Amino acid sequence: MNLHEYQAKALLRDAAVAVPEGRVIRAIEDVAPALEALGDGPWVMKVQVHAGGRGKAGGVRRVKSIDEARAFADGWLGRRLVTIQTGAAGLPVDVLYIEPATAIARELYLSLIIDRATSKVTFIASDAGGMDIEEVAETTPGRIHALSVHPAAGLMPYHARKLAFALGLSGDAAKAFGPMLKGLYEVFTRKDASMLEINPLAVTEAGELIALDCKFVLDSSAGYRQPAIMAMRDEAQEDPREREAGKHSLNYVTLDGDIACMVNGAGLAMATMDLIQLEGGTPANFLDVGGGATAERVAEAFKLILSDSKVRAILINIFGGIVRCDLIAEGILQAVREVDLRLPLVVRLEGTNAEQGRAMLAHSGLAIIAETDLTRAAQAAVRAAQGDI
Ligand code: ADP
Ligand code: MG
Repeated sequence: MNLHEYQAKALLRDAAVAVPEGRVIRAIEDVAPALEALGDGPWVMKVQVHAGGRGKAGGVRRVKSIDEARAFADGWLGRRLVTIQTGAAGLPVDVLYIEPATAIARELYLSLIIDRATSKVTFIASDAGGMDIEEVAETTPGRIHALSVHPAAGLMPYHARKLAFALGLSGDAAKAFGPMLKGLYEVFTRKDASMLEINPLAVTEAGELIALDCKFVLDSSAGYRQPAIMAMRDEAQEDPREREAGKHSLNYVTLDGDIACMVNGAGLAMATMDLIQLEGGTPANFLDVGGGATAERVAEAFKLILSDSKVRAILINIFGGIVRCDLIAEGILQAVREVDLRLPLVVRLEGTNAEQGRAMLAHSGLAIIAETDLTRAAQAAVRAAQGDI
């Protein structure tokens, strides 16, 4: 689960990590009191959405007067911001953040992630921070440094020295870096983050260190013990289908293609998506209905898939290990009748009671393409999406 920048910065502030003072703006009327509270300008106004790339998309602006600030708020509140990270539909802009403009001398990059290869919390740092960090990673990966923290030993002074050196810090900034690192490590571990990113971490013209942007991602599995963070959830920023799926314990991720997939088991879902791609199609989603799929869950999953107007064909691939294929067939038939299906539907059932399930589909009188072979099922789905069936 993502937080907004202003929420993430509040966590940093609580851990004594330097961030600018800021104010949240939800309506034009909030602009004047915010500027008054912050004192003299110029200020920087920032659209709050769960995505980066806001600067390049016009969602971050330096403003020098209350009129400019009002114009920015008027232009963005209630609209949607499209950035390189949001997809074409963009994300709704309900909140803006305003803070004093910092006089930046250098922009650095610093983040914490859990490195799955080493199973350790790992700092990633670069002296080339700011809005082009993705390009730096691609063209000059040598400018990106990684350093893991041993979970038993925790953060050690040498971590700070090594990273400060990699970032080219000196003087006051180098001195402030150790405590800042400690604060970030504390936020990351105590708040169960799966990623915490400061980009840019600015060195000011006065030689101070300050976090100008912050991204915080909560490890959702730890949500039960982080009620304060869960309370910051902004559902408006989440994909409505993914949100709906969560309510029915379905694992769903929206993708760009036009072939909807419904599969039981994450591994099988990945393999199914790979096969669609191999056959020249593109998946519209990842959907794992789980090992213990019931007829009701299959029906819910079906509705979810059909709520996506991009979908031109559906491929259901169920392996009946724990679940019985006849139950799945029942769920499919129930859902197809309920939703008045007009899209081509390819079903591959295999495993326990597969024959029974296939027979139920065949005798249903519905135009379902039943397959036993996965490759053939993928081929049929790709052809169907192209209008060839
Ligand atoms: P995003 O990463 O979504 O583009 P950022 O918050 O990183 O958004 O802002 C983009 C750029 O705007 C930063 O790289 C920095 O140059 C500038 N910026 C952001 N906040 C401030 C600030 N408080 N003062 C001065 N410049 C800022
Ligand atoms: Mg940024």
